[in-house]
Amino acid sequence: MTSIVVLGSTNMDLVVYVPKAPALGETVTGRSFRTIPGGKGANQAVAAARAGGEVAMIGAVGADEFGPRLRATLEHCAVDTDLLRTSEGPSGTAHVVVDDEGRNAIVVVPGANGTVTSLTHGDEALIGTADALLLQLELPLSVVVEGAVTARRLGVRTVLTPAPAQPLPPELLTATDLLVPNEHEATALTGLTDPREAARALLRDVPEVVVTLGAAGSLYAVRGAEPVAVPAPRVRAVDTTGAGDTFVGALAVALGEGRPAPEALAWAQTAAALSVRREGASTSMPYRVEIEDAFR
Ligand code: ADP
Repeated sequence: MTSIVVLGSTNMDLVVYVPKAPALGETVTGRSFRTIPGGKGANQAVAAARAGGEVAMIGAVGADEFGPRLRATLEHCAVDTDLLRTSEGPSGTAHVVVDDEGRNAIVVVPGANGTVTSLTHGDEALIGTADALLLQLELPLSVVVEGAVTARRLGVRTVLTPAPAQPLPPELLTATDLLVPNEHEATALTGLTDPREAARALLRDVPEVVVTLGAAGSLYAVRGAEPVAVPAPRVRAVDTTGAGDTFVGALAVALGEGRPAPEALAWAQTAAALSVRREGASTSMPYRVEIEDAFR
């Protein structure tokens, strides 16, 4: 089994569905409200566990009513939460307004995620046992850097999703083995709108890059070769929330099993395509048997 550690965020998504989003100063009546466990870190952990990985999560939930539910959601998916802290104060929350055209506006409050500022000896020991460490940018940047540098020192593959997009410190790039931006993040990082050019530019800093391209699939780039396009399965998309996290979780599992990169990408895209056919983020992520069935 591929052993994966995720150093990342847990958030409760507080989602209201409205005919039309309110302007500043305006009050509108919503249609419905849902609380959905999320956060990029937790979503990648669930994706990797369902894809067949043995997964542990390092991060923090709050000492509020959301904390136990965020933890239970991970445990329900067999993610090890022994090193998931419970910090004083509120859990991370994402306040999401979705209108009838599917457009959204989001405010993220880091809450407990902001308290994860450094690694413990236990965290380091856990990372040392993994095949891969998955990182995103929803924890304080200092601990993301520390995680990547620690994994690199211990010979553990580092996979970084550079979201939300922001400038990356050189020491983080140096410790990254595989960078997985979506198209927008690739542009934000390089200033280049063409994904091929962006991928080539990113290869100056990291040895391997995958740019995800939504329904168009992804682009795989490794130093010394031309970037290769990997098309995605054609499906009717219902909800693409969490597609990128499903992709990364499944990709890490497939690479850990020793599949060659192009095959691992195609397998991960099969997983992501299954997830966009269903509503929700973590709730829509496929199990390994479904991925294997669809991949044949
Ligand atoms: P993010 O969710 O981070 O914005 P993308 O939109 O690029 O990332 O999607 C990530 C991956 O999910 C894509 O590379 C693709 O494999 C899959 N995917 C996303 N949207 C679709 C779609 N409409 N049809 C099929 N696959 C999709």
